[in-house]
Amino acid sequence: MSLFKTDYTVYLPSYSVGADCYKEIESVVKSYGTKAVVVGGKTAMEKSRDALIEGVKGTSIQIIDFIWYGGNATYENVDQIRSCPAVQEADMVFAVGGGRAVDACKVVCDQMGKPIFTFPTIASNCAGITAISVMYNSDDSLNGYYFPRRSPIHCFINTKIIAESPEKLLWAGIGDAISKGYEAQLASRDQSLFHTPLMGAALSHACTEPLVSYGTKAMEDCRANRFSYELQEVALDIIITTGLVSNMVTGVNAEYYYNSSIAHCIYNGSTVVPSVIKNHLHGEIVSFGVLCLLTYDGQLEERDRLMKFYREMGLPITMEDIGLTENDLPALAEKGSTVTEWKCTPYPMNKETLIQKIMECDAAGKDFYKKEKNN
Ligand SMILES: [Zn+2]
Repeated sequence: MSLFKTDYTVYLPSYSVGADCYKEIESVVKSYGTKAVVVGGKTAMEKSRDALIEGVKGTSIQIIDFIWYGGNATYENVDQIRSCPAVQEADMVFAVGGGRAVDACKVVCDQMGKPIFTFPTIASNCAGITAISVMYNSDDSLNGYYFPRRSPIHCFINTKIIAESPEKLLWAGIGDAISKGYEAQLASRDQSLFHTPLMGAALSHACTEPLVSYGTKAMEDCRANRFSYELQEVALDIIITTGLVSNMVTGVNAEYYYNSSIAHCIYNGSTVVPSVIKNHLHGEIVSFGVLCLLTYDGQLEERDRLMKFYREMGLPITMEDIGLTENDLPALAEKGSTVTEWKCTPYPMNKETLIQKIMECDAAGKDFYKKEKNN
């Protein structure tokens, strides 16, 4: 029997999307006050500053300052942001940027009891709507997770700004987001789910297809800084669908967790392999982990279908593609067996089997390359 809950509150974020969505700011935020402070990354604020000012022009909302968040999601930077007079004076915070800036702002607002609205400038993660912050130490090592009491209130996804973001980040964002459907479904399989995770598991079925159908075109458009329907669908998938699933399949303080499984287990395991972790992005490693998950779970047709998509996208299909060798596998499996995701499967995991399945997946990827050459 899975966890069963009665008294609880679920906060679901809302969102606006489109090239002109900052025009909606006043109608969304006005019941929270009039004074907003923007806190974010340097580049992110540079890219969005004019659009934000234009968005609130002639409205009751006043942006009182733009503040740099400090460059990393650390508790030192959280304290620094909290001590800014403009932050103390503001009725609400507009968090602008990538994952780390938004994560730091979520902690600030949770601690200060201020409403937070998010403005992602890249589509590489779902930080803009999730009730979790990944916190780092000042030496950039992982500190742990912080769970704000609620998710951000509303997320403004300006697709024009996202179209102008570096395509490499979108690429890795697709690689990470493709894990969500497979992992949430594997982690929740055979579980009796109560209402919230049940909804999350159902929604996880909407994660994969938009990425496979529109990913390649979205990448082309992002490379050309061109807004398109496909880019918008992919951005919504990465930020909203994936984020809603995360919120619904993870309990406050992770009292239940069907959010990830073997693919992130392999990612976490790979953090002990310097050639992998130093040269490859999170989403890139996770995407190879998805192929290994499908191999482990015997979903070979689906794995082979994904491999085709990965080749179009330039995502990895062999160990070599992410700098992994056979000799690294025992250490990877050892580390992987110590993380939360190790237990997020419907069957007990086994280190030897994991190694064997990664090798099988690698062999299938090599085969794919061979066939490609011969055609
Ligand atoms: Zn991830």
